[in-house]
Amino acid sequence: MIPPIASRFVAGETPAEALDHARSLNDRDVTAILNLLGEHYEDRLPADEDAEAYLRLVEDIADSDVEACISVKPSQIGLDAGVEVFRENAERIAAHGADRDVFVWVDMEDHTTTDATLDAFERLAVEHGGGVGVCVQANLERTPEDLERLADLPGKVRLVKGAYDPPSDVGLSEKAAVDEAYREQLEYMFEQFDGGIAVGSHDPAMIERARELHDEYGTDFEVQMLMGVRDDAQFDLAEEYEVYQYVPYGDKWLSYFYRRVMERKQNLTFALRAVLGR
Ligand code: FAD
Repeated sequence: MIPPIASRFVAGETPAEALDHARSLNDRDVTAILNLLGEHYEDRLPADEDAEAYLRLVEDIADSDVEACISVKPSQIGLDAGVEVFRENAERIAAHGADRDVFVWVDMEDHTTTDATLDAFERLAVEHGGGVGVCVQANLERTPEDLERLADLPGKVRLVKGAYDPPSDVGLSEKAAVDEAYREQLEYMFEQFDGGIAVGSHDPAMIERARELHDEYGTDFEVQMLMGVRDDAQFDLAEEYEVYQYVPYGDKWLSYFYRRVMERKQNLTFALRAVLGR
């Protein structure tokens, strides 16, 4: 069982609990992006096991009354065990998602994985049309060029600021520089993409910028935020825009919860308040 203190950020240990959470989001016009927690498997076996778990999750979503998609980490489905393992598992999951009409996102990990992730995404996007999406990070110098490549592909692109600290020769570390890069890349997407823009940020300034760009260019976008972060803002935004909540679940919740607390100490206060009921 997930202790109450962590349940602000993690939906539960089982797919059934994740689907229950997704259903409660749907009631408030928010769609869930379900993520089974797990990453960095060096051996093929656990990577294949998590890929199988995603195949079953696709079935569960398709057979339910719930609106949800999934998001997978490359190192969870085999990238550390070999690029071929990752490609095979990504292909199996995307093919099953396409068969059952469940959208499949590919998360982006540290900068050493960007090429392999984008190459795999390109194959999947060409093969499965609009049913897949990939995340790119504004804090990498290469991202403007990557966006040019992605602009011509089907599928969706989630722009985030970046959760990994890149070395100074490949990326930005100053918050102001990352914010500026995010704004520029967002504008490029609204100018050049036909749609499929996902604003993966809790930052009110970035969401406001997306609204302005939407008014200027008319391109549609969706907002994506994490479970437990600005939940009220998610429900408010859902009255006007498409909003998705990234919903982690699974038995590897402890390190994820720890990360949320470390990135923002306030998160611990929020979680404690939820437990104490105030
Ligand atoms: P920040 O720059 O952290 O914060 C800006 C402002 O947002 C704050 O000043 C505050 O006003 C508001 N805010 C932020 N957090 C909170 C909070 N807890 N409570 C209240 N207000 C808050 N990164 C990757 O590298 N790869 C991925 O695949 C990836 N996928 C993601 C998917 C989703 C749906 C989301 C939302 C993020 C993802 N990230 C991913 C993480 C991302 O890169 C950032 O690390 C993370 O979102 C923090 O940046 P931010 O844009 O939200 O705002």
